[in-house]
Amino acid sequence: TPTVAAATPWYRKLHWQIILGLLLGLLYGVLAAQNGWGSFTTNWIKPFGTIFITALKLIAVPLVLASLITGVASLSDLRKLSRIGGKTIGIYLLTTAIAVTIGVLLADVVQPGNAFSPELREDLVSAFGGDAESRVASIDEAGIRDRGPLQFLVDAVSDNAFASFSNNGSMLQVVVIAILFGIGLVQIPRERAAPVLAFFEGLNDVVIKLVDIVMLLAPIGVFALLADTIVSTAGDDPSVILELLGGLGKYMAVVLLGLGIHTFVVYPTLLKLFTPLGLKTFLAGIAPAQLVAFSTSSSGATLPVTMERCEEELGVSEEISSFVLPLGATINMDGTALYQAVATLFIAQAFALELGFAAQVTIVLTAVLASIGTAAVPGAGIIMLVIILEAVGVPAAGIALILGVDRILDMCRTVTNVTGDATVASVVAASEGQLFPPDQSGKGDRLRSV
Ligand code: ASP
Repeated sequence: TPTVAAATPWYRKLHWQIILGLLLGLLYGVLAAQNGWGSFTTNWIKPFGTIFITALKLIAVPLVLASLITGVASLSDLRKLSRIGGKTIGIYLLTTAIAVTIGVLLADVVQPGNAFSPELREDLVSAFGGDAESRVASIDEAGIRDRGPLQFLVDAVSDNAFASFSNNGSMLQVVVIAILFGIGLVQIPRERAAPVLAFFEGLNDVVIKLVDIVMLLAPIGVFALLADTIVSTAGDDPSVILELLGGLGKYMAVVLLGLGIHTFVVYPTLLKLFTPLGLKTFLAGIAPAQLVAFSTSSSGATLPVTMERCEEELGVSEEISSFVLPLGATINMDGTALYQAVATLFIAQAFALELGFAAQVTIVLTAVLASIGTAAVPGAGIIMLVIILEAVGVPAAGIALILGVDRILDMCRTVTNVTGDATVASVVAASEGQLFPPDQSGKGDRLRSV
């Protein structure tokens, strides 16, 4: 209730605790890298981060399954389902196209790759080239390079539901299975459907409780994840990071600027135009999800937190959030698409390749499609980048140039991905009359009974 919330001191609020964990993790990571505490960190700190992210992933599949099945079933008539589904996918595609366009324009204007000296290119390729070669080789093995443009649709259909459930990379398949199951459920007689539905409703409630439990670990988990990321990126020689920043600073700045514009200008504009949500309410509500996204680099692992925050803090109805958010975590990756556009142009510029207007349009189209097929896990974006590079004839080995700084950009683009899902959920909810911001009405649970 509001009175209790007002009395809660700041340090008991989740997002401040997570921010504290983040800052302390950063500080510790830098100290550890400088003083050679690498193995201590790996043995005694990292496991807590691993447990946190593993527990979030554990929840993700049952959550998508239960929430989408109950979500689709509660939309009960198929006309409503296709209206909301069409709207959701349309807005997702639109925001992604805007994101890629921002990326292309910024990279065209700033030209981050032109300042790149041939020597530096050599240095970076020899420092990270080996790693890049093995990545490209594994990409070849996985057959990603000869994927057709519609491959993501083929991949979305599973031939074995249980195999999909047991593989975190197959979330799109889980989404499709759950939607089909939900549609089937509303088409059979009510008395047959009722027990099945009751089961998934119960499962849904349990999973939401599990989110609360796992989030108790969030501040410590975030501390450990950040500490470990810094220690393992810096390796034995912290000066590597500085060197990289020298060569790649402009590229990183362009990606970050683009993500910043998309996250803090485009989304707020959409919210202002289409929802009654105040920016402050939105940001304060969604902050814990953004922080978890930043520290886990995985929008899939963040999904449980995103759903909880959207329902409890932004007032998105459960009906909308349980449909829009799992779908968004899987197919909507604005940050990833924007990053891929900048990376493609950067690599082309560094290799002194001209990409004309047609190539840039190809980048927009392939990046929108590739981001749909990108798994919501750390580092997935740079693998799918290969598809875009190939589409415009830029050597895939160019990812060697940017591999060294990919983790930090991954963390940031995941924040944009998650914020985008929450924004679209709010917009769709508002358009359906299903957004009940907490300051304008009561909180949370009443929606469950509607
Ligand atoms: N890590 C991102 C996500 O989960 C995907 C990417 O690598 O861009 O949203």
